Amino acid sequence: MVIYHLSTECYPIAKVGGLADVVGALPKYQNKIKGIDAKVVMPWYNKSFVYDHEFDIIFDGFIHQGPNMLQVQVLKEKSDSLGFELYMVKIPGLLDRDNPYGYQDENFQFLAFQQGILHWLCAMEIRPDVLHCHDYHTGLIPFMVEHCPEFGFLKGTKTIGTIHNGEYQGMMSWNMAQYMPSFDAYKWGLMDWNGFINPLASMIKCSHAFTTVSEGYLEELFISFRGLESLVRQEFGKAYGIINGIDTEVWNPETDPMLDFNFNRKNAVAQKKKNKAKLCKEYGLKPELPLFAFIGRFATEKGADLLPDVVWRSIKQSYGALNIMILGSGNTYIENKLKEYDYTYTNFALDLGYKEHLSHKIYASADFLLMPSRVEPCGLNQMYSMRYGTVPVVRYTGGLRDTVEDISTGGAGLNFTYAGVDDIVHTMNRALAMYNQKGVMDDLIHANMSFDFAWEKSAEKYIALYTN
Ligand code: ADP
Repeated sequence: MVIYHLSTECYPIAKVGGLADVVGALPKYQNKIKGIDAKVVMPWYNKSFVYDHEFDIIFDGFIHQGPNMLQVQVLKEKSDSLGFELYMVKIPGLLDRDNPYGYQDENFQFLAFQQGILHWLCAMEIRPDVLHCHDYHTGLIPFMVEHCPEFGFLKGTKTIGTIHNGEYQGMMSWNMAQYMPSFDAYKWGLMDWNGFINPLASMIKCSHAFTTVSEGYLEELFISFRGLESLVRQEFGKAYGIINGIDTEVWNPETDPMLDFNFNRKNAVAQKKKNKAKLCKEYGLKPELPLFAFIGRFATEKGADLLPDVVWRSIKQSYGALNIMILGSGNTYIENKLKEYDYTYTNFALDLGYKEHLSHKIYASADFLLMPSRVEPCGLNQMYSMRYGTVPVVRYTGGLRDTVEDISTGGAGLNFTYAGVDDIVHTMNRALAMYNQKGVMDDLIHANMSFDFAWEKSAEKYIALYTN
């Protein structure tokens, strides 16, 4: 069975968030299953990684976007060292950019990516068994495969859509239709939602099946999904929640080259302390006090707007009995407020930006990882933190519900219900009480490190879905 994963991100080539981690790991684990050949297709970016690898140009052609003719090249990575074949679609002017997102003309950008993929497959007469589309950037593929005569060669190919983040749907005006490959006009409703072209809605309507990255998140989408809840309810017969795994080869505290002191379950307590001492020294924090960390995008979805108040309230209320460290970037108001507190409080450290190495060090050093998310389709941070012996302190929502159980009901983490400062600080106080009880933290480190979040089970579930 040949599967093409279509995505705008893939670790380690281009990562903005969890989508990259999933697309960089799932195919690798699928390829360990007999008879499976999973590949990844992504845009070509101007990232230094790309130039460290050698590529063959395997396709050169043209697509049309309305009156514009665009060159499309497909490059295949030579070494196959990633655990899957990697194909990159290069469209000069639209895809060869520094970052995956944040451009004014993203409608043209993602449309070109999707057209480029389908044009290449049809021109080379490559008919995969499954086209697995990830998020709205590839959400129009199921429609195009079935209803655009230009891609008739692929008609009938199984398409699966995975919603990693339903907050982003890629809505665009119907004016964009003139730049799309032609389609049977009476099928327009399959792309429409409330008078706009909505790629995510179209993916839900036209794919053979669609998945969310946890069961908890799927349940929530039936109730609240930025206007698509009634659509999900209509299409529930082909909806599946499959929890993400983590790449336990990349995220292995025993071998992780990004850590200062590697560790396993046996020596975790002592080695984590050494990692923490080094990190605290670098950031002027106090290693004898518990360390709470947050890693992520500064977005309301992640509850990041609550962080400034959480910082000052928790430090004041505990009379400075804890450290907090935050790594991330995003909303400038949140960044500025946190910068102000970084100057004010010696117990608080802030590092702005995207820093893969530092994130690994924090997972290994912190005692507690804070995740006050309002929306969390799956969440990977809590799984990474648990694998590195750090206790997750999470809001009870989406994938966090599925992966973190409170210590009071036999789990090894801490849950809270409301995305509000009171609830968060109260839960941090519970954490502080645990920290000060002899032996409790050591047990929690071991318990968290014993959870199995490996990809194998979920990779099998996707295969079962493809063969359904
Ligand atoms: P998202 O909604 O952002 O995709 P996930 O929890 O699914 O959230 O995945 C987040 C991924 O991005 C994790 O691998 C996390 O470690 C990483 N990450 C987020 N922000 C940063 C940052 N500032 N520096 C390094 N890694 C980060």
